[in-house]
Amino acid sequence: MSPELSPRLRDMAGSATSRAASAPRQEGAQPWIDLAVGCPDWEPPRACIESAAAACGPRVPYRTPGGDPDLRQRLVEESAWNAGGGDIDCVLTTGGKEALFLGLGAILVPGDVVLVCAPYWPSFLEQIRAWGGVPHVIPEGRDGLPQLHALASAAPRAKAIIVNTPSNPSGRIWPTARWQELSKLAHREDLWVVLDAVYGGLAYSERSCVQNGLPTALLARTLVVDSGSKSYSLPGLRIGWATGPARWIQAMRSLQDASSTHPSLAGQAALRAALDIDPDWSSGVRARLQQRAEALWKAVQASKSLTMRLPEGGLFGLIELPAGTDDRDFVRRLAEEQQVAVIAGSAFGAPTTLRAALTVDPEGLREAVRRIECVVERPS
Ligand code: PMP
Repeated sequence: MSPELSPRLRDMAGSATSRAASAPRQEGAQPWIDLAVGCPDWEPPRACIESAAAACGPRVPYRTPGGDPDLRQRLVEESAWNAGGGDIDCVLTTGGKEALFLGLGAILVPGDVVLVCAPYWPSFLEQIRAWGGVPHVIPEGRDGLPQLHALASAAPRAKAIIVNTPSNPSGRIWPTARWQELSKLAHREDLWVVLDAVYGGLAYSERSCVQNGLPTALLARTLVVDSGSKSYSLPGLRIGWATGPARWIQAMRSLQDASSTHPSLAGQAALRAALDIDPDWSSGVRARLQQRAEALWKAVQASKSLTMRLPEGGLFGLIELPAGTDDRDFVRRLAEEQQVAVIAGSAFGAPTTLRAALTVDPEGLREAVRRIECVVERPS
């Protein structure tokens, strides 16, 4: 006999992305094209790194649980999403991941249903289950957004909904009209809303509520999660934050006080510096990603057998394989035969697709599409 582990965690196998990141790249006939992990391939702003280094010494004390108050205050004031919001507070976290985890932990009791829109980031499911919650996946409609009738019929049994826009994996952005619909539904069914906006700083154009802010009616029930990993290219510093209703944030701070206390001082210092960088740095990153997204999309359009929706923001695109293709098997063959690393869409609730990260220049993306086509054309 040996003591039991928690049954809640039985099915947690770690994310497909983490597994893909650590998988060995066997040497093949040609150089690898690595589109598996959404890790920026450019340098972060210099000032962020210098500030992070300066924060480490000569002493590195504990500081305020929840993060430094001046930085939290600034994030509340500058949050594009919460413009004009009432009783809004902020907690600094160890990446956006911890913000989501604490946010869910503050509202869920075992058995609570949380709506997740496909295609989804897989950690949503694992985090919900870790708190004893039950994820309920809303299928994607033809417009790349969650089917409204499925949302409306599942909402009465749900406690919360997670919205990720721009989306990982599809790059789809929720238009303002969809937010208005969600606002009505959330009121009618008394739902909490978790908005994962970690790619909000990487929207390619100004056509959505990413820039316009949330409908005011949603502010009192919405937690907005953001991160330095994507907008400022600082994933390894593990700095994120959440803004939202003060009582929700307060509960998250208590949970953080009992677990990690606060994110590292280096991460907090880098984020403080990031808020003051030249806006040209951020627009340069967005322009680079948009150019890559368009190059990938055009190459896919020109192919005989693949299709995709043009990403509107973020670091990824979702490529559709011919109907009936087993995407997991395809990913294995693509790596072995053509040295291209991507993630199978099944991991995101989008079977028969491949998730490609926009982490190489247009030439590399065009070459990746050429190699994907080679595998499509050569059945196993
Ligand atoms: N949400 C989504 C949709 C993501 O893709 C990621 C990172 N892959 C995160 C949250 C968390 O990012 P981090 O913890 O690095 O801030």
